[in-house]
Amino acid sequence: MEKTLVIIKPDGVQRALIGKIISTFEDAGLKVVAMKMVWATKELAAKHYANDEDWLLSVGKKTRSSAEAKGIRMDETDLQIGQRIRSWLMDYITSTPIIALAIEGPEAITAVRKLVGSTAPAKADPSTIRGKYSTESYEYADAKKRPVKNLVHASEDAKNAEREISIWFTKKEIFDYKRADEDAVR
Ligand code: ADP
Ligand code: MG
Repeated sequence: MEKTLVIIKPDGVQRALIGKIISTFEDAGLKVVAMKMVWATKELAAKHYANDEDWLLSVGKKTRSSAEAKGIRMDETDLQIGQRIRSWLMDYITSTPIIALAIEGPEAITAVRKLVGSTAPAKADPSTIRGKYSTESYEYADAKKRPVKNLVHASEDAKNAEREISIWFTKKEIFDYKRADEDAVR
């Protein structure tokens, strides 16, 4: 059994998609084990979007290859792109209240990422949350000098899931209970 962190980002809350997003996870048999609405501080945002070089480089690389596929050359290094986007993300995630959730289930980390879809909604499968509710691309967001509005954050792996859950929730805020349909689902 795994737990993962999900955040419904400002666009998801502003567009009143909280219920639909949570239902997507519940309908897949995943269980909400912690949940709160938070107006995050800059400190919390900086912890969540950690200044981790590997992650910054991966954000930069994905952005560059998407731009190159459209014939756009980027002058910044991958690290500079990552740092710029991290700074946008910290401003964005603190701009309105958001919903933080811990979600549990077999293979929850991979399953949630699959239901959320690819980072750029324009490329995300239409059956995913990002593909269904948005059509944004990296280039569109970059031109507007803000993060891609892709509705949801979901932890990328087990190490980050544990780290991120502990940023948003204390141990006491995470509940151990049984869903009524649990024996049928699992
Ligand atoms: P994911 O959220 O799919 O794990 P990343 O961890 O790579 O994606 O990036 C974190 C977030 O940064 C994305 O969800 C998106 O909101 C934003 N983002 C990533 N690349 C860009 C970009 N080139 N322009 C604007 N926003 C971006
Ligand atoms: Mg990520």
